Amino acid sequence: MLATRAVNLFYDSCLALLYPQACAICGDSVESRALGVVCEKCWQATQIFTGDETVCWKCGALSLGSVAPEQRDEVRCRRCDADAFTVARACGTYEGALRASVLLLKREPHVCRMLVDLLAKIQGQHPLNQATRIIPVPLHLEREQARGFNQAGIIGRALSEAVSLPIDEISLKRTEHTARHRAGMDARDRRESVENAFTVSYPALIAGERILLIDDVFTSGATVSACAKVLLEAGAADVVVLTIARPLLC
Ligand SMILES: [Zn+2]
Ligand SMILES: [Zn+2]
Repeated sequence: MLATRAVNLFYDSCLALLYPQACAICGDSVESRALGVVCEKCWQATQIFTGDETVCWKCGALSLGSVAPEQRDEVRCRRCDADAFTVARACGTYEGALRASVLLLKREPHVCRMLVDLLAKIQGQHPLNQATRIIPVPLHLEREQARGFNQAGIIGRALSEAVSLPIDEISLKRTEHTARHRAGMDARDRRESVENAFTVSYPALIAGERILLIDDVFTSGATVSACAKVLLEAGAADVVVLTIARPLLC
């Protein structure tokens, strides 16, 4: 396994030398394909969560204050009280390398090794490590056909392979076509627009399962909360959320 990894890293570096790619942020050449479309320096300049930050234990929002490590699971922002998921976590803030990776995923169905490793590391933390099944937030069929793929599904499959968790892309369906970021929509409008957008097609498949719900970005939490609600109503034991990034303030 380690040997294969070393060969892959070597192969990636050779490819990067033969076919240099310009960093999507600064334009310097990207040192390895494992880094995706961003160079090492720009990855280092991006805020990646280490797990030592003080965040709302439930939704993962960064808190301005700080508390002792043993009190971290008591921190709540209170804005997420009504959300149906148990916890939501992200690899870091929606900026720099994470933003560039999310934007690339809307055009190309590929998740770089760097990002898979970050996602796997967070999935290994409690309580995300209790998950028994990965479910990506679905796109409406029309939108998925227009794009050719569901970016959350691509993230989910890459993580599924990395952490050996089964992925289920058929149980949760998006039945309503909702505009994700329509101009002029405030948080309440967004919440109302996705509230009834999801349904569970195969409750038997998710009964008693601890679901790891995957999306590219956590914004208001409305989308993942709406998914969590129908999954729990259909018999899931728990729903935890993992995304690539979340805005610094939301
Ligand atoms: Zn760069
Ligand atoms: Zn919160």
